[in-house]
Amino acid sequence: MEAARQIGVELTVASEQRSTLEAENPAGLLTLDFKNPERAADHVHAFARTYPIHGVVGVDDDTAIVAAWIAERLKLKGNPTHAAEAARDKHRQRLALADAGVPIPRFELHLVAEDPTAIAASTRYPCVLKPLRLSASRGVVRADSAQSFMKGHDRLKAILAEPDAAACGEPALHFLVEDFIPGYEVALEGLVVNRRLHVLALFDKPDPLDGPFFEETIYVTPSTVPTGLQTAIAQCAERAVRALEITEGPIHAELRYNERGPFLIELAARPIGGRCSAVLRFGDKGSSLEEIIVRHALGMPIPSLQRERVAAGVMMIPIPGAGTLREVRGVAEAKQVPLVEDVQITAHPGERLIPFPEGSRYPGFIFARGETPATVETALRDAHRCLTFVIA
Ligand code: ADP
Repeated sequence: MEAARQIGVELTVASEQRSTLEAENPAGLLTLDFKNPERAADHVHAFARTYPIHGVVGVDDDTAIVAAWIAERLKLKGNPTHAAEAARDKHRQRLALADAGVPIPRFELHLVAEDPTAIAASTRYPCVLKPLRLSASRGVVRADSAQSFMKGHDRLKAILAEPDAAACGEPALHFLVEDFIPGYEVALEGLVVNRRLHVLALFDKPDPLDGPFFEETIYVTPSTVPTGLQTAIAQCAERAVRALEITEGPIHAELRYNERGPFLIELAARPIGGRCSAVLRFGDKGSSLEEIIVRHALGMPIPSLQRERVAAGVMMIPIPGAGTLREVRGVAEAKQVPLVEDVQITAHPGERLIPFPEGSRYPGFIFARGETPATVETALRDAHRCLTFVIA
């Protein structure tokens, strides 16, 4: 909304729950059924007769699909619906990538209702169990033995039975078992323009993500990965974009690499989540990622896809434990740490904090900018050490 305001674009915000102010602002607020994207697209088509729509942007995994349906129905710039849906579903994504020969982990689809002892006995270790539709690593578990597989399976089964996960329907009845790919992980933020991937930023993840759960922490850019390897990583992501038939808009991909080269772990047809995008600025004016996305969706000129010169990083603050958050101390001190730009605590007092793998909501974000990735990383860690989470 802020990006649209800054570039003078009038916005209609669609959400699943009707705003009490909708009648006061009929051009600006719209209620859509995200669970039925086809109907949502019909709805927008009718709406656009009164309030013309020139572009559409999804902001997360679910709305990326709704946006694709709306784009197709209104003939706006966007992804084909099958591409958005293949990106959303981890199994469909694996099938499309395997077909195209993109390097991915070996995978098998199983029913939650199957006997897990039989799967555990026939699986190669280490492996990763994961749901098809959740995000932010929720329910993603590494197992190193049949015994840890059984434990992981129990937890994943319980997560898939939670109301929001079960609401996915059919996909919540399945899970994937994949080979665990060892190695260093990076995240790639990109913009696809007319089928071509433009890399906006490659982030290092300096904290090892070896499991058993995969809570993210620090993202720092520019990456310190050697240039040749960065090219191989970008090519791997580009092959995935082509395989999934993504044609337009933002992507966020996780890749790992080891002596066998890069592997595509996941690609989503949406921008980076949470508050993390604030870490990115582009061109002389320091444009936001959202400004680029809105401009692209509307076919407006994009001044620059070049990220600023300095290094930048964000820490997704680790979930400090299970319980009810009472208060967070030390925020002012954390903000004083040199190079730290902002500390945003997004969890509110009284909120229940749920650790991984059941949870996936970080309690806040720390941002830093500086001359080198190493100084930025140190600043993020120093700021984090200033914080105390009081949990009951
Ligand atoms: P989500 O969409 O919920 O984030 P991902 O499939 O991206 O789920 O998995 C989350 C994280 O788990 C990845 O970023 C990676 O660190 C780890 N991970 C997932 N699958 C594998 C795998 N096959 N091998 C190694 N690590 C994996």
